Amino acid sequence: MTAVWLTDGSTLVDDETALREVLAPVLVDVEETTGMGLTVELRRNVPQAEDLTCTVFPEGKSWDDFEVEPVARATIRLTRRNAFAEQIASAASSIESLVTKEQWERAGRGGWPPCQLHNHQLRPTASDGVAVWRCPSGGPDVPIGELR
Ligand SMILES: [Zn+2]
Repeated sequence: MTAVWLTDGSTLVDDETALREVLAPVLVDVEETTGMGLTVELRRNVPQAEDLTCTVFPEGKSWDDFEVEPVARATIRLTRRNAFAEQIASAASSIESLVTKEQWERAGRGGWPPCQLHNHQLRPTASDGVAVWRCPSGGPDVPIGELR
């Protein structure tokens, strides 16, 4: 299930393009490993030129639903001056929490993405200019966007 992008038209095209580039590898990992659909909603609610913001919801949810009842969501706020790999790792951290929470509610298991070697989840970080999922026990890094 590919992520759905929603915009109220107030977000700059350049901002949306930048957000799509940063989120793309993370969304690929979610899709490849969980099949979970996500909705990415853009609203220019934080008018700070330095930041890129959007909100990620589970499939079929949006700010309209949130105004009726609390909905799980991940807030993405990226600082433009940060390196690209750092932006990806930052976005991955927010989405990691959302996916873990959703998997727990749907399937009774959490800890996304799981480490292939140990019983824990991987953590996103930027390493030598590359955004990676890192095993906290020293297992090999997996580039974000290449989970299978
Ligand atoms: Zn591990």
